[in-house]
Amino acid sequence: MNNYDLIIIGAGPIGLACGLEAQQAGFTYLILEKGCLVNSLYNYPANMTFFSTSERLEIGDVPFVSNNAKPTRSEALEYYRRVALHRNLKINLFEEVQAVTPFETQYQVKTPKNTYQASHIVIATGFYDIPFLMNVPGEDLPKVTHYYQEPHFYSMQNVLVVGANNSAVDAALETWRKGANVSMVIKGDGIGARVKYWAKPDIENRIAEGSIKGYFNATVAAIRENEVDINTPEGLVTIPNDYVIAMTGYQPNLAFLQKIGIELSDDDIRKPFYDENTQETNLPNVYLAGVICGGMNTHSLFIENSRVHATHIIQKIIQAKA
Ligand code: FAD
Repeated sequence: MNNYDLIIIGAGPIGLACGLEAQQAGFTYLILEKGCLVNSLYNYPANMTFFSTSERLEIGDVPFVSNNAKPTRSEALEYYRRVALHRNLKINLFEEVQAVTPFETQYQVKTPKNTYQASHIVIATGFYDIPFLMNVPGEDLPKVTHYYQEPHFYSMQNVLVVGANNSAVDAALETWRKGANVSMVIKGDGIGARVKYWAKPDIENRIAEGSIKGYFNATVAAIRENEVDINTPEGLVTIPNDYVIAMTGYQPNLAFLQKIGIELSDDDIRKPFYDENTQETNLPNVYLAGVICGGMNTHSLFIENSRVHATHIIQKIIQAKA
């Protein structure tokens, strides 16, 4: 069967929440995911702890039991996997949506594997796909990563961590604790205000005692095989370097939305147009759900305040069909 009431693009927490609501309402639906189940979470740092408590990550009223108040990435993978399997959600993994186009009274959805039709489209594609680049010479060297995984690999190496938010702080502390010689390049004059309350004093103390070298009000100027240049208020500094972990943030694939025909705001936020009550975009029966709704303002929406999008969308579809 290739014709559905709705097709949901993205099997992140919010795409899954939409699938659960669609299932409960008795709609035919299919979730298409370009990677593995909850692909973004799978690609988070291996030892990551969420800043949200577990009940705030719950979807479909399924309890999320965690050993601690703040669950880990592996607990979250376990949770969302159990929800998807237990509720028998209809998901095609490793199938990227490449195009959504109007087709008679419906939409046609194209992937490399198949072509589908659906009356309603939900786009829940998140913001973890495209890293912000530093745009400096050497950024394309294999020693540079924008997706930090785990610390053992960096033991006894000269590591430069770029950034001052949660991902950068976690990477700096973890690699330092596994024996890396860690420096941080920080654009502003302090560690980010949003950094988890237990990690912030930890990193600030490590920098203050000199265990981790912090370059504040600084930017990376160039990366070479064995060293990096850093612009600092005191001038250009060159330090030995084996690896660069660039935790410079991520941005949503807004070009994908534009290609489909969804309008974005003209300002820097480039917020996609949608009705806050129904999540419907300027295209009839095309909806946005999850953190993609924030546009470039990627810190305005999380799981806890966007899981309600699933209810908004399904209510709208139920009313439209009534
Ligand atoms: P995502 O989880 O990003 O899911 C989007 C999915 O769409 C992905 O699986 C992706 O592969 C898929 N996709 C994209 N394009 C296509 C396509 N063309 N075809 C098919 N599939 C596609 N939020 C919290 O609420 N609490 C936290 O503690 C928290 N910690 C975070 C820590 C880190 C390091 C990061 C980066 C983010 C964190 N977030 C946290 C934010 C978190 O990522 C989001 O809240 C959550 O993942 C949003 O879910 P989502 O379903 O909207 O998007």
